[in-house]
Amino acid sequence: MTDESQHPAGLDLTSLTAHQLQSPLAAVKHLLEMLQGEYVGPLSERQKEMLARAGARCDQGVETVQRMLSIARAQQETVPADASTDITAVLHKVREQFASQAAERNIELTVDIDASGTWVAGQEAGLTESLNAVVHNALKYTPDQGQVRLKLQEDKDQGLLKISVADSGVGIPEESREKVFEHFYRTPDQQKSSRPGTGLGLSFVRAVIMSMGGSVRADKSDLGGAEIIISIPQARQSAKDISQDERKGMKVVIVGGVAAGPKVASKVIRLMPDAEVTIVERGTTLSYAGCGLPYYVSGVVTEQKQLMSTAVGAVRDHVFFQNVKNVRIMNQTEAIEINRSAKELLVRDLAGGGTMNLDYDKLMLATGAKPIKPNLPGIDLDNIFTLHGVYDAEGIKSVLLEPKSHDVVIIGGGLIGVEITEALAKRGCRVTIVEKRAKLLPMLDWEMARLVEQHLEAGGVKVLTATQAERFEGAGKVSAVVTSNGKIPAEMVIVAVGVSPEVTLAKQAGLEIGTTGAIKVDPHMHTSDPDIYAAGDCVENINLITGRPCYFPLGSTANKQGRVAAVNICGGSDEFPGILGSTICKAFDYCIGRTGLTEAEARDLGYDVTTVLAPAPDREHFMPGAKYLLLKLVVDSKTRKLLGAQVTGPGEGHKRIDAAALAITANMTVDQLANADLSYAPSYSLAMDNIITAANVARNKLDGLMVGISPIEVNIMTREKRDFIFLDVRSPGEYEQVRLPNATFIPLATLRSRLRELPRDREIITFGQISLRGYEAALILKHAGFKNVRVMDGGVEMWPFEKLF
Ligand code: ATP
Ligand code: MG
Repeated sequence: MTDESQHPAGLDLTSLTAHQLQSPLAAVKHLLEMLQGEYVGPLSERQKEMLARAGARCDQGVETVQRMLSIARAQQETVPADASTDITAVLHKVREQFASQAAERNIELTVDIDASGTWVAGQEAGLTESLNAVVHNALKYTPDQGQVRLKLQEDKDQGLLKISVADSGVGIPEESREKVFEHFYRTPDQQKSSRPGTGLGLSFVRAVIMSMGGSVRADKSDLGGAEIIISIPQARQSAKDISQDERKGMKVVIVGGVAAGPKVASKVIRLMPDAEVTIVERGTTLSYAGCGLPYYVSGVVTEQKQLMSTAVGAVRDHVFFQNVKNVRIMNQTEAIEINRSAKELLVRDLAGGGTMNLDYDKLMLATGAKPIKPNLPGIDLDNIFTLHGVYDAEGIKSVLLEPKSHDVVIIGGGLIGVEITEALAKRGCRVTIVEKRAKLLPMLDWEMARLVEQHLEAGGVKVLTATQAERFEGAGKVSAVVTSNGKIPAEMVIVAVGVSPEVTLAKQAGLEIGTTGAIKVDPHMHTSDPDIYAAGDCVENINLITGRPCYFPLGSTANKQGRVAAVNICGGSDEFPGILGSTICKAFDYCIGRTGLTEAEARDLGYDVTTVLAPAPDREHFMPGAKYLLLKLVVDSKTRKLLGAQVTGPGEGHKRIDAAALAITANMTVDQLANADLSYAPSYSLAMDNIITAANVARNKLDGLMVGISPIEVNIMTREKRDFIFLDVRSPGEYEQVRLPNATFIPLATLRSRLRELPRDREIITFGQISLRGYEAALILKHAGFKNVRVMDGGVEMWPFEKLF
């Protein structure tokens, strides 16, 4: 085993032991006080004296235990990268606290600040407690009429602040100067002395300071006694460090002009109207709504400039940015090199040729992502597109203008692939989706993706999963795609196999790249260089549930991150904590969405999960416009917290996904979610909203009131020819319309009178249209003494396999 794996276990035992000792010690103390107070009988003077000594020892025990807990906590804690504290405030506070004690003993207690930057990268509470312990020592080990001096100095080269506490006391012998930081160590003199102590104070100080990336040592002081010297990294430049003057004329250079870039520019100008802001953009167009491209292809959006305008119709082109926002636009300009020490960006004019250097105070990388183009034979044939920029959309539109019916193959059944399908089908194309994985849409679990697939197929789209595109054929223009599943005619191909972050510039500059291959940033959107920020599709994110890095490029995230970066560029202190992977998309009349973890992801991460499939109308069924919504919840069985939600179906899924996203962000359990005060009126929702019902089903399952089984498991049981009765309890009318294979049919209304028909020794799996009746049937059976009954989740509505019509 490595040290790393042993470390936490060891700590746990320490803190556990300390924690366990706390309450018995408190109880002993309380009993001693009862005795001392003579509540249980009169005491002799001798008895009182012994009890007083026992009490004092007990106090020491309590103190030791508390110190041990504090040390364990400090060792376990990682200090957030953005933590910062003005250390001068802490020094004055500590002095304040000991002032009267020092005055009583005629000890001169002073604070001497000799540094300009006074912010350190650590949390105030830990720093205060540590300095308290050190100053407490200094006073304890310094006789009356002495001197104690707190001093702050700066080591600019190393980026360190040095806090020292010097005294004129007994001093620490040279051979003990290392050892005083060990647990329970006291110098031999002090062990013999009358000064009380557990020997844990300085261990605590060291644990805290180390957790902040600092160090601490003991030395001889110029005042004659001991000196404890703490070195701690200075905080990155924070809000308070940028003076008003410095902000004036601050040069902000932004690389990338699509989403995060223009957001940063606009916000910086709002906060610092005097800043000189420049956007460097390789393309000609700026600030377009990339996510709107499928709707431009389908014709819902008729003009390119609609994608580039504000809600009130102002076109955000470079004239707009220049005149309205006072942002200098350098389009058709490529950023080629960052010189970090000179703080310069080398750019090339793509139209006119020639290069120049732009100097910056703050540089913003919003370089975005580029579509992945698989290296397949024939990929460069005409009419093979990605869907990434306005040019791609224009290209696709021009092919669609040619007057014949089009066979279009989409390579990749992810979000973009599925989204563009509708646009093409609406323009009369015959669309085939080729997906190499076993299912569409990695954002969804298998059965949810399968329901989408069925819906696309019903809309005339051919879906080939587990199919690999191998090459493209054609003379000049593409005419067919050869796949592992045969050859498909194609007059146009759209390659939508994902994007990869554009990190060339960041890499060249030596900025840290994360494990996902995207630029690593902290919650302030700082890269590893404090003067360079990054946001949008080029950066990696933190998943709020797992705490792990992930790459999840979305326009929504890019805009939020851009705003955070801008605030910080302007001297503020804003944070972007991370993402849940919330996604929504439209395919024909289906709303498809998810937030948080899928069941598959949660299981991979080792969660014990409970899932719910809950189909229901999205508003009262008697209202016009009510549509079905298929909702899935993923819940942590241990903590009962919501981990994820997915929707498909024509109903309003986004409302439920957003509610789920907030519930996950707020760390809510399904019990809390079940009583959330969601808005209700029959035209918009249900008295028990879909997500509330689903949360209640999860609670029923967690409480053992209902034993569920997923359709996937039922299908496996059928395939393996396992012995069970698959009991359909819907009405005869519903049964006429559609059936599930191998089902026994007994309508719920007649179930009580027909119990004799069901064998008691076999497992029964019940279901209804949406499984509400399935649950009721299971309760009837349970009440009648049937032992082995489960309810199939989601009923006929969410059955992802073959149905009989
Ligand atoms: P406590 O856990 O109650 O603080 P403590 O003061 O004995 O007990 P530490 O603060 O860890 O424990 O200090 C360890 C030892 O270092 C002390 O026992 C003392 O011998 C020595 N020491 C610490 N500070 C000073 C000082 N300012 N002057 C002289 N000796 C000191
Ligand atoms: Mg001490």
